[in-house]
Amino acid sequence: MKYISTRGNFNPAVSAAAIRLGMVPGGGLFVPETFPAAQLEEWASLSYRDLAVEIFSRYLTDFSREELQNYVNAAYSSDRFDSDRVVPFTDLGDQLTVMELWHGPTAAFKDVALQLLPHLLTAALKKEGHGRDAVILVATSGDTGKAALEGFKDIEGTHIVVFYPENGVSAVQEKQMVTTGGSNTHVVAVTGNFDDCQTMVKQIFADDQFNQRLWDNGLEFSSANSINWGRLVPQIVYYFYAYFDQVRKGRIQNGDPLNFCVPTGNFGNILAGYYAQRMGLPVHKFICASNRNKVLTDFFADGVYDRQREFYRTASPSMDILISSNLERYLFEMAGRDAEQVRSWYDQLEETGRFQVSESIREQMSELFYAGFADESETAAQIKAVFEQYNYLMDTHTAVGMRVYRQYVEATGDTTVTVLDSTASPFKFNRAVTGAVTGKDVSDRDEFALLDELQQFSGVPVHRALNGLQQLKAVTPQVIDSSDGSRLLAEILFD
Ligand SMILES: *Cc1c(COP(=O)(O)O)cnc(C)c1O
Repeated sequence: MKYISTRGNFNPAVSAAAIRLGMVPGGGLFVPETFPAAQLEEWASLSYRDLAVEIFSRYLTDFSREELQNYVNAAYSSDRFDSDRVVPFTDLGDQLTVMELWHGPTAAFKDVALQLLPHLLTAALKKEGHGRDAVILVATSGDTGKAALEGFKDIEGTHIVVFYPENGVSAVQEKQMVTTGGSNTHVVAVTGNFDDCQTMVKQIFADDQFNQRLWDNGLEFSSANSINWGRLVPQIVYYFYAYFDQVRKGRIQNGDPLNFCVPTGNFGNILAGYYAQRMGLPVHKFICASNRNKVLTDFFADGVYDRQREFYRTASPSMDILISSNLERYLFEMAGRDAEQVRSWYDQLEETGRFQVSESIREQMSELFYAGFADESETAAQIKAVFEQYNYLMDTHTAVGMRVYRQYVEATGDTTVTVLDSTASPFKFNRAVTGAVTGKDVSDRDEFALLDELQQFSGVPVHRALNGLQQLKAVTPQVIDSSDGSRLLAEILFD
């Protein structure tokens, strides 16, 4: 299997090259040349790990089956995921199942991909690079930083440095990051906001002199962000796994279609579902759920992608995104793999902040996708309603999905069984969740006290990744100005 560029500007590359590079050097994203065919009958009874090996071995053909098996065993071991099944399900009534993607070490769905990526990346550097150690830089507004730290912690041949805005993450998120431990992890606070962090990291990546210095010291930069193929491919697995779960329970027959409802930010998670469908997974509809930052809802409605709009901070911050970078891969398919067309759209986006697809493409998009959004009060009301009806606690991101699922059912009357992707533990966003279920104003309460209070109120135990966090040994992160990034990085890496 080879990987080609969505903008037609790179020779077909093996998967190790795509993973090592992260994105196409001249702009564009790596996509598989074809979609391998799923084996619905043969795969139906496999464990999560065995299913993962089957799917990876079809996409990552330059890795041996034994390599893939080893990475899967290490990434999805029972001490990393607290459910033996890796991804467990909770049925809410006959037509809806919640797929809990947050049983990994940091309580967020990004663990599913970021536990595997370090193994793929270090192997890719050995195959494609020159055996240099990888330096991973991450700018984070909270969740990704911790998931990346846990994924790369003590992985030989890697160093990871996470930058976060000094006053821009929650107390729990900061505590999670500074208690990671590991000999190759570094956490740095930057004065300024998330954008300052992100810009600083991009500048360091692009600094030729710094890159040369790394090279001379046996190191090279690499990226763990969500456009890396090595982060997308692990997410395809759980769409199949959810399908077979419903078949096993007799809620559908093997071959019947399912719906998937996905709370969406960068369009990575839902794209992985679409790739599963292209491999042959029977899907009736993908329901794409956004929060108030509804750039995708508008795009599916009128075919205009317009990022020039007000940006809102919401209680589902991991979906506060106006540039959904993985959408490019989906548009490549919608354009009939016309790379010139994709390039033209993205040139327009860069120059004018918007682009428009043709009416026939817009119609084609709506055959398989339904898009909607939920505002802040609808999201909070949904958390409360689900808790009262099912005694089930969901986080703010999942609740956005739940609300849009209900809109969809109201609008269409569709009774197809639906899987709702649950992307974070409710304890991870405990302030908003406690406020929603108790109806109290908890906006100035201590977040750690709220963990206990939510547990008491709901009877649901605190996620182990967040339990006892306050007692863990913490490092005191350095606080730097955003102009000081490369100096500090040199100190970390070369001294
Ligand atoms: C990252 C994230 C999302 C959005 O996922 P995308 O792949 O970017 O669409 C949703 N919920 C949570 C909790 C996340 O961390």
